[in-house]
Order: sequence, then structure tokens, then C-alpha cells
Amino acid sequence: MKILHVPCLEDNYSYLIIDESTKEAAVVDPVEPEKLINAANEHGLNLKLVLTTHHHWDHAGGNEKIKEMVPGIKVYGGSLDNVKGCTNKVENGDKVSLGADITILALHTPCHTKGHISYYVTGKEGEDPAVFTGDTLFIAGCGKFFEGTAEQMYQSLCVTLGSLPKPAQVYCGHEYTVKNLQFALTVEPDNVKGTGEAIMGSETTQSRAPHHSFNYRRRNGDESIHARRASRCSGQGWLPLSR
Ligand SMILES: [Zn+2]
Repeated sequence: MKILHVPCLEDNYSYLIIDESTKEAAVVDPVEPEKLINAANEHGLNLKLVLTTHHHWDHAGGNEKIKEMVPGIKVYGGSLDNVKGCTNKVENGDKVSLGADITILALHTPCHTKGHISYYVTGKEGEDPAVFTGDTLFIAGCGKFFEGTAEQMYQSLCVTLGSLPKPAQVYCGHEYTVKNLQFALTVEPDNVKGTGEAIMGSETTQSRAPHHSFNYRRRNGDESIHARRASRCSGQGWLPLSR
């Protein structure tokens, strides 16, 4: 399994998930389809699927167009999210295969939108799994609570994403890393020291690979963090990540 990131719009990320033995590929949130199709052509890929994380235009807005440009491509999206161009609705726990070796597991991670789906993707034995978290989990932060409650976001992050079968590389929907870490510094400075400061100093931009090298693991036993999180969790939420 190989994953390529394709920066789109101002700070969005789309991704290509590639099954290397068959050259079949899935695209995640192809808001600017031409860019993904060019990247696919460059690498000799056969686009089979679209995985849509949620209904917002900067994620699902390219679905109709990519269907015109790639006849027969299947478009997946959450059953509660009314995703534009969706041909295959998914529920929590549904599985989709790609090529010879890739399995995609749909995880319902609501709050940013009601039907938000994260996709947990596994390849061959020994390869690192990946999780595509859209606007639920960013690096060092989480998405705005547009259609859900703090309890739902907590469940999505700390239970659903926090209990993945194996730790996974996180591929998120936007480049918000520095902004999130600046906020995190005001909430939990000790956790941001070291790696977080190094990232802030590295001028993270959308043209570079997203900082997905944080392994996502549950970390919810620290009462002092709960207290601070509860008091600062309106709007852009914050979840401490392990490094
Ligand atoms: Zn969104």
C-alpha cells in the first residue's frame, strides 16, 4: 500500500491510496478532481473508488465531476451525511476492498457532521495501517462541532479512533497543525514541548507532506487534561496526542 497526498484549495488535503500490485487506487475527498486524475495518470493508476469523509463542499464538492471524468467510479459516503454524488452509502463497520491487498473499514465518527466517516485502511501484513480522519481528527486538534456534541466528539476520538486494532498513521483533511499547536500551548504546554515546538518551527505548509507521523493512540486517563479540555473545548477542540 502506498499513499500520496495532494494539496487542494487553500489548506485541504486529498489523498490517493494505491494497491501497488494491481495499480488500483482510491481517492479521499477529491475536491479538485483534475489534480487527483493527473496524479493518477502520472503514476499509471486505475481509479476505482472515492472515499468521502463528510458532506462539506471542500471535501465532497468534486464528486460529481470525478464521476463524469472517470466513468464507473464508485463514490462512498456516510449514510447519514447526504454526500453529493454518493453511489454507495456506508455505515459504521462496513468494509470495502481495493485491489489485491487493501481493506477499507468505515468508522462513523460524528460531531463535525452527523454522518462523518473516517476510513481505516490496511494493506499487506507488516505494512502500517492508515486512518483518513477528514475533519474529525487533525494533527494536534479536532474539527469544529457543527452537527454534534462534545460527548460525540469524545466518543469519536477517544473510543472509535482510540481503539483501532493497530496504531495507524493519521491522514487528516486540512493543514491546521501549527494553528492547533499554538492553541495547544495555551492548554497543555508540557505536552507541546519538544516535537510540537519542532513542528511549529519547521514552517509546516500544505506543499510538504502533512505531519501524519503521529501515531494515534488513546490517551484519556489524565484528569488534569480532562479538566482543561472541558474548559477550553468550545469551538476548535483540542485533544492531546501521543508522539
Ligand atoms: Zn468540514
